[in-house]
Amino acid sequence: MDGLPDGTYAIYRDLTEEKRAQNELSRFFTMSLDLLCICGFDGYFKRLNPSFQRVLGHSEAALMAEPFINFVHPSDREGTLAEFSKVERGEVITGYENRYRCADGSYKWLQWASMPTTETRTVYAAARETTKQHLAEQQLREALQMKADFVSFVTHQLRTPLAGIKWMLELSAEAADREESDSYVGDARESADRLISLVNDLLDVSRLENGRIQVHAETIDLHELTESVVGDVSTLVRQKEHDLQVEVDAARPTVVADSQLLRQVVLNLVSNAIKYTPAGGRLRIRIGQHEGALRWEIEDSGIGIPKASRAGLFEKFFRAENAQTIDTEGTGLGLYLVRLIVERLGGRIACESEEGRGSTFRFVLPSATAPEVLQ
Ligand code: ADP
Repeated sequence: MDGLPDGTYAIYRDLTEEKRAQNELSRFFTMSLDLLCICGFDGYFKRLNPSFQRVLGHSEAALMAEPFINFVHPSDREGTLAEFSKVERGEVITGYENRYRCADGSYKWLQWASMPTTETRTVYAAARETTKQHLAEQQLREALQMKADFVSFVTHQLRTPLAGIKWMLELSAEAADREESDSYVGDARESADRLISLVNDLLDVSRLENGRIQVHAETIDLHELTESVVGDVSTLVRQKEHDLQVEVDAARPTVVADSQLLRQVVLNLVSNAIKYTPAGGRLRIRIGQHEGALRWEIEDSGIGIPKASRAGLFEKFFRAENAQTIDTEGTGLGLYLVRLIVERLGGRIACESEEGRGSTFRFVLPSATAPEVLQ
């Protein structure tokens, strides 16, 4: 640096040092996997690293064009502004979380660390995406809630018939004559049967949910199976004076499936149609082909399903309000089981209904089920 005035070299060296340090910082800023930004006290982003675009999908220009609060989830805005005003007052914030809107309209959780510089009226902030942790926590909360609901449901469902059985047996012991005693024992047996069928349903649900159920592949004549189920429920149909007919418009409606499981599906749907149709109803079972698949449906003229209840119809323990006035003993497990079985057999189930006018439950099964579905 010959020929330069004294001290010039030192200034030059300091400037080069500063430039090098700036370059280094700039590289870290660009490379960081976390979201780094500088935001003005006026509420606008001044600088953003590329992670913002990678995580949220908005361009840098789009993010800088409007106040950052516009990107925050409406429910988190109040809390975010409160935190921001703390930073404006000179506080350092760590761990605050809020949701940011992405370019596709979804939201992602971000966890923030922010530090203000009051002289330049700016906030330096770093954020990390925590959406996965939030989802995991939410799933855990839901699972715990479901477990609690399940335990409370099952204990309630078991306690009522068990108490009934005890009471019937006590009455039977005190009965004046044999006939009275037999009638109490008969009632106790009915309650015990209901308990056994509830426990069996719960076991089936658990096996199907865990994929631990044995599925035997066999060729089944769906018409034959349906007629056999109709035979089993004929006493009930007669008692309620329903008109039940089976109509078949397929040459030979055969499917490869598990006959025990398929029987359970048909029995559940037929029993529901009988149960939820006031006496003297019209029930039609139709078996036919539909786009290369086998279609089975039952139409009833019963109480129907309120619109608001249709979404939950095939969920565990679901019962519509209008059903509870007709049958107080129901468990809401039947249709859930039906759905699990139909899906396990590679098919689909649906329902059309109008409250007060009747319902149609329909399932389709592939005529020739792929062997892997039944394994
Ligand atoms: P459960 O009959 O024990 O309540 P299900 O799982 O078989 O349980 O049915 C769930 C609910 O779906 C019933 O409580 C009832 O609200 C509604 N449902 C099922 N089948 C019919 C039907 N054929 N007509 C009207 N409602 C029905």
